[in-house]
Amino acid sequence: MLKLRRRVKVRLKKRYGQHLLISAGVAKKILDVAELGDGDIVVEIGPGTGSLTKEILKTPIKELHCIEIDPEMISELKKLEDERLRIHQADASEFDYCELGKELILLGNLPYNVASLIIEKTVFCHHCVKLAVFMVQKEVAEKLIKCSSWLGCFVNTLFQTNYVMTVPPRFFLPPPKVQSAVIKLVRKENKTEIDLKKYKAFLTTLFSFRRKTLRNKFTEDLLQKALIDPLKRVEELSLEEIQRLFFVYQLEGA
Ligand code: SAH
Repeated sequence: MLKLRRRVKVRLKKRYGQHLLISAGVAKKILDVAELGDGDIVVEIGPGTGSLTKEILKTPIKELHCIEIDPEMISELKKLEDERLRIHQADASEFDYCELGKELILLGNLPYNVASLIIEKTVFCHHCVKLAVFMVQKEVAEKLIKCSSWLGCFVNTLFQTNYVMTVPPRFFLPPPKVQSAVIKLVRKENKTEIDLKKYKAFLTTLFSFRRKTLRNKFTEDLLQKALIDPLKRVEELSLEEIQRLFFVYQLEGA
């Protein structure tokens, strides 16, 4: 049983990746980066006992939706009295964010075991998410800000990604074994529509067997049309090249 403050008593559960943020400075930085303003509809993922939630509610936002899976945390959150607050007991990796608004801001110290799934979900919901500021494992953050994995490419196609800062374990209770980091995702105002299900399938295939050269994965003809050297490996491709390859791949009905 953890007593955080006098009134907060919760049993922390490993299976939900519960590492509560105990640094007011880091919470403040997350909010500075998000630049919350009048009329914003904010979604907090994994609010836990509500340390970040309380800070969000000090800003002039219009609504705050909290998505939390653990009923014990929900009981704590319900103690926060604010008419802008809506609490949803749900799995954030399966939640349809677009039900909540059209230009959402997503925030959260994410449960690390499902962080990648939540980020994937964020990309699928890009039409209704204009900005996301997330705390994730540092290693995951480093992969997400570049195109070196299928998910990194997926995110960077739809969002401008920025590494905000590293957060050491001592700022959490209990401290995680790894370093954490805050990342910021700002939606790119792309004109071209992408079929994201097909794009995901393409990227996961492209990034499997990374050591293989591209001519082992695609026909020479297709690579030539996409103006890509068939002797390259996936890690040598830029995001632009990957997108070009995807468009040619689709056109060819491959
Ligand atoms: N934001 C809080 C807690 C972060 S710990 C703080 O910084 O103090 C991660 C939180 O996500 C926990 O409250 C945990 O119960 C919740 N969580 C874990 N898996 C989840 C899921 N799939 N969907 C929604 N919330 C989840």
